[in-house]
Amino acid sequence: MANPTVNRRGLLIILSSPSGAGKSTLAKRLRAWDPDISFSVSATTRNPRPGEVDGQDYHFTSVEDFKHDVANGDMLEHAHVFGNFYGSPKKPVQAAIEDGKDVLFDIDWQGAQQITNSDLGKHTLSIFLLPPSITELRRRLESRGQDDAATIARRMEKSWDEISHWGSYDHVLINEDLDKTEAELKTIISATRLRRIQQPHLIDHARKLQSEFEELE
Ligand code: GDP
Ligand code: ADP
Repeated sequence: MANPTVNRRGLLIILSSPSGAGKSTLAKRLRAWDPDISFSVSATTRNPRPGEVDGQDYHFTSVEDFKHDVANGDMLEHAHVFGNFYGSPKKPVQAAIEDGKDVLFDIDWQGAQQITNSDLGKHTLSIFLLPPSITELRRRLESRGQDDAATIARRMEKSWDEISHWGSYDHVLINEDLDKTEAELKTIISATRLRRIQQPHLIDHARKLQSEFEELE
């Protein structure tokens, strides 16, 4: 049930890119820009990286619990990426958008496709980040300093699988200069919030204008 006191439908903002292109960095900046954007904390069966906080960066979970949640219908989408399971828990997303809040997803192309094709698809804004070059992508993965050489090699090997889906996103940005990409993301989000479909209160406003207009006659 939609909350009648909110005058905006929340957006599902999806950020995808090959690993290392800058999703997490930009997601953090967007949340600092607008603390009302709620971040969809994914469940994953991968091990936490140093500094990652359970419940904040990811819900770190077992394969058994993950499969149980999927079977229960508790995941909005889910996928197998780099040998691990990842999924977006459904409940917090539903609560946020009914409250008029946008939800930001850092998910791969498979998850983006599942959400875009779901009932919530019309409230989705999908953005793909491309690296300036493959050399720079490797440099960023290495400079992040959080994965061992084998993990980096696996992510580099898989990067084209992800990049090859850039054409199915609403917007595509080359993340060369971080500040520029951040500004572009803010522009896209601000404009999309003004889509007619995100503003159900416009119907009441149009009715009010109509009755004011009729009183003129
Ligand atoms: P990183 O992208 O290098 O930081 O590595 P992660 O292990 O955090 O994520 C690996 C991939 O899984 C990235 O492409 C993420 O966007 C993707 N991912 C993370 N969470 C989810 C999720 O809930 N669903 C889906 N489909 N993909 C996810
Ligand atoms: P992802 O979440 O897509 O795997 P991250 O946000 O972790 O990528 O970024 C990978 C590394 O690249 C981080 O060290 C980050 O600081 C750096 N980075 C991100 N965007 C840029 C950019 N535009 N220019 C230079 N370095 C960047």
